[in-house]
Amino acid sequence: MAQSNENSLKHSTELAESKPHSIVLINANKIGLARAIDKHTGEPQKNIDYYINFKPGKVCGGRTDQFGFTQPIRFTGKTPTVSFNFISPKKEVFLDDEVMSDDDDLKNSNFNSECTVVSVQQLDKKNYKINPVQLDNRAAVRQAIISEVRKSGCVFKTRSDWKANDSQKVSPDWNYTKIAIHNAGNSYSCSDLNGDKIKKIEEEHMGKFNQFGYHYAVGCDGEIFEGQDIRNKGAHISFGNTSIIGIVLMSDLDEQWLDSDDEVTPLQEKAVKKIISTLLNYFNITELGGHKEHQIFYRNPKKPNEVIERSCPGNLGMEFVEKLRKEFNLGKPTKYKQS
Ligand SMILES: [Zn+2]
Repeated sequence: MAQSNENSLKHSTELAESKPHSIVLINANKIGLARAIDKHTGEPQKNIDYYINFKPGKVCGGRTDQFGFTQPIRFTGKTPTVSFNFISPKKEVFLDDEVMSDDDDLKNSNFNSECTVVSVQQLDKKNYKINPVQLDNRAAVRQAIISEVRKSGCVFKTRSDWKANDSQKVSPDWNYTKIAIHNAGNSYSCSDLNGDKIKKIEEEHMGKFNQFGYHYAVGCDGEIFEGQDIRNKGAHISFGNTSIIGIVLMSDLDEQWLDSDDEVTPLQEKAVKKIISTLLNYFNITELGGHKEHQIFYRNPKKPNEVIERSCPGNLGMEFVEKLRKEFNLGKPTKYKQS
């Protein structure tokens, strides 16, 4: 054991001399996998050599696997600062720190020292030979969705990218089975700036719901914004949001108003389809509908006989919904069943 530690230290020192491309400092007190990603595309980086400095004094080295993961590492309170050093001469490789995991599957594994790099064989292979999604790590899924959407060439702005208001009050949700499509309404138009529109929606929703309502918002140029973190329940269907992902097209898709109407643009269509195809990889989604189609199943418990009518996402929006349903072979909304 001492022998192998020495070797690993020596090896790591050699790696250190080849100049790390990036050093990321994290504060951690957990067990986790870290993932190497391309700084610009978010794409996972496989077969990247890395070494990890545990302060003070310890070093581990390794190479990322086919999913870009480092081997599982235990971080303890004694090592409050850990630097990951990825050695990649051609690209800027960064640590995707949102993949750090507190997952039970990893906790149950047998780690014998804070600086032990556990071999693949030491883990249950069934659990290891999978991507983070199957580790049921919600942070990892959120990040994987973002990475996958970005990989297709779409611009994706996270909540921190667009400086979303983090004083909101939210509750968790996860087992999504439905998608709801919305239009932003007739006071939104393709000629407005996305940055202004997202802030305007935020302001409206913070006032009404104390949170951002939709999970994703898509501009007319195909720019995508993370609205509500996918780990949280949305606020976009009155008296019903559980298990429904909300996507809003930031334009007016309704011709019944005497205003300048927007149609779904080709870039917007491409972006929405990319979000949907990605979500289908991570959630068991079976139904897709316009807001109005979902809304008919939800009523105010205090007024159970009153149907809540909505025009959202507008007539052009509904044409788009039909198209999406056909293309992704998804059903129309049905009554919410508690699973
Ligand atoms: Zn709506």
